[in-house]
Amino acid sequence: MSSPALVWLRRDLRLDDNPALAAAAARAAIIPVFVWSPHEEAPWAPGAASRVWLHHSLAALRDALRARGLELLITRGDAQQVLVDLAARTGACAVYWNRLYEPALSARDASIEGALRARGLEVLSFAGTLLHEPHTIENRQGRAFRVFTPFHRHCAALGPPRAPVAAALTLTAAPSQPPGLALDALELLPRIDWSGGIRDAWTPGEAGAARELDTFADAAVEHYAQARDQPHLDGVSRLSPHLHFGEITPHRIWHRLARQWPGRGEGSVSVKVEPFTRQLYWREFAHHLLHHFPHTTEQALSAKFRTFGWRSDPPALRAWARGLTGYPLIDAGMRELWHTGWMHNRVRMNVASFLVKHLLIDWREGARWFWDTLVDADLANNAMGWQWAAGCGADAAPYFRIFNPVLQGQRFDARGTYVRRWIPELARLPDAHIHAPWAAPAQVLSDAGVRLGHGYPHPIVEHAAARKLALATLARSNVAKDR
Ligand code: FAD
Repeated sequence: MSSPALVWLRRDLRLDDNPALAAAAARAAIIPVFVWSPHEEAPWAPGAASRVWLHHSLAALRDALRARGLELLITRGDAQQVLVDLAARTGACAVYWNRLYEPALSARDASIEGALRARGLEVLSFAGTLLHEPHTIENRQGRAFRVFTPFHRHCAALGPPRAPVAAALTLTAAPSQPPGLALDALELLPRIDWSGGIRDAWTPGEAGAARELDTFADAAVEHYAQARDQPHLDGVSRLSPHLHFGEITPHRIWHRLARQWPGRGEGSVSVKVEPFTRQLYWREFAHHLLHHFPHTTEQALSAKFRTFGWRSDPPALRAWARGLTGYPLIDAGMRELWHTGWMHNRVRMNVASFLVKHLLIDWREGARWFWDTLVDADLANNAMGWQWAAGCGADAAPYFRIFNPVLQGQRFDARGTYVRRWIPELARLPDAHIHAPWAAPAQVLSDAGVRLGHGYPHPIVEHAAARKLALATLARSNVAKDR
């Protein structure tokens, strides 16, 4: 029997459309390996909610591999050391993986590749996560895109994405492999269980991702353009954590939609579903930006923002994080996040704008909180989203755009259904007052059982005053110059 191959699984926790796994399976017996090495991702090691997801996703992958006769070898430590040792112990001739694009991780992988090759091992890496690898896309001047629309136009002109690679029919296990750790030994789950809301809301793993896609493709995708901004509707795909952990690929999503909603050309999608596929390119754009501007996880892309004097206000930050700002749309979003590990995009935009504009708190504080609490926490998407909201990123909202959380609530959650779901204290308020309880007549509040300041708080800032202050502060800083 020829030597086995190690398949190093990272953020590609799936059997379907997994180019590295498929290529290894076509050639050799396989030892699938997962290495838990959060220190190598510092300062962006997976946060608490991501760890919960990862635990369940690894369990699903382990079970799927077992059903095919393979055992996922779970380890921890320095990835390079683990792989070198494993190769020596198993006599493996090659290591396969799908590439990652976060700058720190791709630098690590390059160094691991060198170390493995120096020991005579073959290293085969594949593109399996993005429709277009970030370094392959550039504008006419040979530079990175900074604006989404031309980026999207450029990518769309390259034609539909490649077809997904079907899961290998047979996976051959290596005749023997060293024992790994039990999944529980990674201690990804919290000691005191707070993750029931995440468990109730999601099914991590490849099968859960496929089901979520089927449900979306059968119904919601058709109305995505109209429903995607309304947080009380099931109008979006909820595929983000599945995409982040690589339980499904954008290629699979695309071709599943193209089958059900075909467009004119081979592999293309109908114009009806284009508003959705366009969102997949925002994910591509975020990776493109992070690749070309690796400092943007910590630093504003726009140099003008780098000296901006953000306020330090721990009580306000705490009130925001706990969903106790007194603005129902903001608080509903923050509670949805705390409870389920996810928040609707329209509400993400609002809570982020509220933190940076109404409270003048540094976007990096918000990005950190999201990082710890989101199950879809993704370095590229999170950095781009926060910089967009703060007005300091690529193609960002202009600094003078300040969302009014009352008007946003009235526009996108007109009946208050979303607010009532997450803020039971306000459930009995009539629709007319649900987004601004402080403006409701005393009798209305009393009939609804609401005593502001006892239970649900008064607003921590007044919108008009906060807006004025934000505009004045921004205007005094460099930010407003040379627009
Ligand atoms: P859908 O609307 O169904 O879109 C499908 C997919 O397209 C998403 O799963 C996602 O992969 C991609 N996508 C959609 N919108 C965006 C976007 N604006 N930017 C990048 N990709 C997008 N998304 C994350 O995946 N991880 C994050 O850490 C993250 N942080 C964010 C922080 C802020 C402040 C903001 C404003 C947005 C953030 N987003 C993040 C983007 C977006 O909110 C989520 O991707 C989306 O809400 C996920 O829900 P969905 O899968 O139902 O999206």
